[in-house]
Amino acid sequence: MFAPPGVKTNHNEFPIPDSMKAWVLGGPGELALKQKPVPVPKKAEVLVRIDAVAICATDLDVIWHGPPAMIEGGAPFNKNFTPGHEYMGTVVALGPSVDEYAIGQRVAVEIHAGCGQCKRCREGMYTSCHNYGLNYGDVDKGHRANGFTTDGGFCEYQVNNINTLVAIPEAMSDEEGTLVVTAGTAMYALTELGGLVAGESVCVTGPGPIGLLAVAVAKALGAQPVILTGTRDNRLDIGKALGADAVVNIRKETDVVAAVKKLNGAKGVDYVVECSAAASAVNDAVRMVNRGGRVCLAAFAHEEVAVDVAHIVRNNIYLYGIRGEGKSATHRAEAFMAQKRFDACLIHTHTFPLDDLPTAIRYAKDRVDDAIKVVVKAKMGAAQKQAAE
Ligand SMILES: [Zn+2]
Ligand SMILES: [Zn+2]
Repeated sequence: MFAPPGVKTNHNEFPIPDSMKAWVLGGPGELALKQKPVPVPKKAEVLVRIDAVAICATDLDVIWHGPPAMIEGGAPFNKNFTPGHEYMGTVVALGPSVDEYAIGQRVAVEIHAGCGQCKRCREGMYTSCHNYGLNYGDVDKGHRANGFTTDGGFCEYQVNNINTLVAIPEAMSDEEGTLVVTAGTAMYALTELGGLVAGESVCVTGPGPIGLLAVAVAKALGAQPVILTGTRDNRLDIGKALGADAVVNIRKETDVVAAVKKLNGAKGVDYVVECSAAASAVNDAVRMVNRGGRVCLAAFAHEEVAVDVAHIVRNNIYLYGIRGEGKSATHRAEAFMAQKRFDACLIHTHTFPLDDLPTAIRYAKDRVDDAIKVVVKAKMGAAQKQAAE
C-alpha cells in the first residue's frame, strides 16, 4: 500500500495502490499500456487521482513529432514518458506542508508549474518559464509541464504543485472539468495578454476547442460583437450556441476579411484570436483588425509563413503568441463556468475508457463522427461505456 513518509493519505476513502496503469510513448506514434509506480508528492505537491483527461491537438504533435515536449533536454521518444495534459481529478494524498487542499477535493489542473525562480515565473508568466524542460540531472530547476517536460495524464495518478490546481464545484462534470484549462487559455489570451475590456469587438478564426471557448469567454467578458470564422457549419453552430453574434463560413465567402469587417461597421475588429493555423491566417488576421488592434496567435502553424510586415507597422498592429494558461487565468475561467455563463460541454463529443486511448486518439486525430473534444476516463459509468461503443 502507498504510504511514503511525510505524505498524508486516507486509505479508507481513497485507497491508493503502489503501481498504476500508464500509457508510455515509444517511437513516434507508438503508445503502450504499462505499469508504473504511483508517483510520490513532494513539498507543496499533491497526488491527484486522474478522473478524466481530454485529448488536445498538441498531444498529437507530441506523440507523432515530439515538440513542444522536451524530456531530459531532447525528443520525448523511448524515455518511459507518459503524455497527456488536459486532466482533472480528485486530490487523494497531500505532500509535506500542504494544507491548501483537502483529500477528496475535485480539481482541474493547469499544465505548467514553472520553475518559480526565473524572471517570467516571478511575473506570473510561468507558461513562458525561462527554465522550460530543466528538471533533470545537474540542470534541475524543478520546472514541470504535465505531458510536455514531465509525465502527464494518460495514466491513473499524477503529482502536481498546489499552484497548478483549480478547485471545481461538485455540480461540474468530470468532462467539463477537463475544459477549464482550455477556457483558461482563452481567458489569458484575451485579458491578461490582450487587455480586452467590455464592449470591444473580437473575431476568432478557427472553431477548434480553443477557438470555440475563446468565443465563449469573449462573450462572457462582454465583447461586442463576437465573430467566428471557420469551414464547418456544425462547428460554427456550436460557436453561436457559445455566444458568437455572427459566423462566417469561409468556404462560402470569397473575401473573408471584407465579410468580417462588414459585420463591424466596415472598421474591422479590436481583436483577432487566430486558432486555425491556416497558411493565410496571419495576413487575414492583421487585415481584420482595425488600426491599433491586436492579434493573438494561438495555433501552432507547421510551416513558416510570409507576413505583410509593412501593413502591421503602418497600422500599429500588435501581434503576440500565447503559450498555455498563465497568470492563474484558469481560476477566472472556472468562475465563469461555475456560474454557468457558458456551457463548455457543448464542445465535448466523446468519452472512452483509459484502456482504449488509441481509439480515442484516432477519433480526435481523424475527427471521426465530428469529434471535437474526446475524453478518456480510468473509471467509467455503465451508461458512458455504452455511449462510447
Ligand atoms: Zn492542450
Ligand atoms: Zn521559471
